Amino acid sequence: MPEFPPERLLIHDADVVVTMNAAREELPRASVVLEGDTIVKLGRATDIDAWIAADPAQRQPHRKVDARGCVVLPGLVNCHHHLYQTLTRAIGTGHGRGLFDWLKMLYPVWAEMDPEAVHVSTQIGLAELLLSGATTVADHLYLFPNGCRLDDEIAAAQAMGVRFHPTRGSMSVGESQGGLPPDRVVEREAAILADSQRVIETFHDPAPRSMLRIGLAPCSPFSVSADLMRESARLARSYTRVGLHTHLAETLDEERYCLEKFGQRPLDYAESLDWLGDDVWFAHMVHPSDADLGKLAHHCSGVCHCATSNMILASGIAPVRQMLDRGVRVGLGVDGSASNDGNHMLGEARQAMLLQRVGWPGFESRADRLSAREALELATLGGAKVLQRDDIGSLEPGKAADLVAFRVDDLGHAGALGDPVSALLTCAPGTVWLSVINGRMVVENGELKGVDLANLVRRHNAASQGMLRRAGLV
Ligand code: ZN
Repeated sequence: MPEFPPERLLIHDADVVVTMNAAREELPRASVVLEGDTIVKLGRATDIDAWIAADPAQRQPHRKVDARGCVVLPGLVNCHHHLYQTLTRAIGTGHGRGLFDWLKMLYPVWAEMDPEAVHVSTQIGLAELLLSGATTVADHLYLFPNGCRLDDEIAAAQAMGVRFHPTRGSMSVGESQGGLPPDRVVEREAAILADSQRVIETFHDPAPRSMLRIGLAPCSPFSVSADLMRESARLARSYTRVGLHTHLAETLDEERYCLEKFGQRPLDYAESLDWLGDDVWFAHMVHPSDADLGKLAHHCSGVCHCATSNMILASGIAPVRQMLDRGVRVGLGVDGSASNDGNHMLGEARQAMLLQRVGWPGFESRADRLSAREALELATLGGAKVLQRDDIGSLEPGKAADLVAFRVDDLGHAGALGDPVSALLTCAPGTVWLSVINGRMVVENGELKGVDLANLVRRHNAASQGMLRRAGLV
């Protein structure tokens, strides 16, 4: 049998290629060469053309994409999400509810979820994420009613071609034990740990350029026990590169709950359970103390900032600038689609930039608190570091072949060519024109390849309406 070379893709003559390499180089009029799942070369378009012409090994045909009029970036990394929540958008957020009231309203609806609902909501959320520039997505599924399994969202995500970090979430402390969720949506801890081990052994791939890594994610201090937190950490650490994830320091209600129930602030409580380390990343961290920031930096634990969700649920403003200045690893997440209620990854980077500039008690308003480039870095390299990945987040030879291109020659960017990179966030956030994940074109000419979106939306709305009906909300 003849051996065929891996597919070669030439992204040619982009207006700017934003590398996010160590020098944070931005290359004007540049090209990127991909071979199979890896970036092999990038540089000035004329230099790349000459390299291809001069090297006989490069003369085998490349698929060439004309990227004039585009800014090319590393694929964006979404570090925190609950894809299933696309099923319950708007009903808890339109009138405005704080986190605890919002959760108590939605738990009974989520209890009606089934495997079809998990599958279709995963694909709906990922479709929006892919079209807004995400190429790597971490998800946190923590309810498994009616036979749902993590396997349902994994199958759905694999069909979409995304680089996926599903976390096996859990809730084990129901209302009768002093927790927030109703008893009927929590699981037995032995079953949680057994299933966590099963999904790690079935799906987890620690290898470089892995398309799927599992994490373990007890949901929050008010829905799992200290034992489950400890045992989840022990289990995750018995494997290679299985991350640990949870919500922490999201609201002042949570801080009060931890002080009353455990006599400790949230991060001190996490530390007492062995939940500090470079394998841990926390969603939100809106209310850290100064000492908390020091601990996060010292232990290299990551933070996923979710600006939109924090605004919708009035949780507060996370001190991202202080985190960065103290050396804390920070990435971005759109959070669940019932507290956003969208999955626009580039838009989330814009929200993070805008929110940091606003003043709040103890902080004056400052336009220079977070620049557009810094926000883009959080959405790419920052997220990659939070997920402990050194193979994504920047465009460099040897890194995984994940990149996105946004057009800047369109209506929304007219007049913005003086700084097209900043324009990605200062102008209204656009839709990707091209997305390549693991060397494969997932979005081409602004359209998701091979996905019947109209049919997906119909199936999703049918699943959503069924859940709302069964929960008595419509
Ligand atoms: Zn969340």
